[in-house]
Amino acid sequence: MNDWNIQSRGHQCHTCQKPFEDKTGYHTVLGYENNEYIRHDICEPCWINASEGATDRKGYISHWQGTYEAPPPAPPEAIQKDNAESLLRKLLKTDDSRWREASYILAVMLERKRVLKVKDQLKDDGGRIFVYEVSKTGDIFTIPDPNLKMEQLEQVQIEVAALLEYGLPEKGVPWPPQISEPEGEAYENIEGAVSPSNESKDEMETTVSQSVA
Ligand SMILES: [Zn+2]
Repeated sequence: MNDWNIQSRGHQCHTCQKPFEDKTGYHTVLGYENNEYIRHDICEPCWINASEGATDRKGYISHWQGTYEAPPPAPPEAIQKDNAESLLRKLLKTDDSRWREASYILAVMLERKRVLKVKDQLKDDGGRIFVYEVSKTGDIFTIPDPNLKMEQLEQVQIEVAALLEYGLPEKGVPWPPQISEPEGEAYENIEGAVSPSNESKDEMETTVSQSVA
């Protein structure tokens, strides 16, 4: 099962091909076909016409409603700084299981900051899979629960902090560039986001606590 592909929100209806207008409602249907997740965004009128039976169709997994927001003009490349969200996108793009744990931790951080929302939780042979939506863009992707053990957590936090600070490793270049533990803001944010002893608990922290217990 491919858990890594990002599926962007469509800008037009899958059924009638009409472009979505800003601030109008649409429906997302998530299915599983030919070993991959398939996402279809459907306009309100088409949904009303065709929703009957849609949830019984083979491969159907999940359905939710969203409000389409026209994308803002992209900022110039030069001022795009690598943050937790762009880093997570890069990690998912590598399709490398080496970043499984780091991706999960980043997703938890971003969910806590309301950048991501969990839309669904799936189960497969490997365990739980979270379906995440990027609140601003409506993009969705899946992240498997790596079932982090308490004793692994610190190591993954260090890895995430190093990724935030230095970016992804490049071929032939030692990574991370320094042996000492990364410190500073990035690291503190991660600790705050995933430490089970943190006082301001919310839903996602509970999930993390359970998964590391
Ligand atoms: Zn339509």
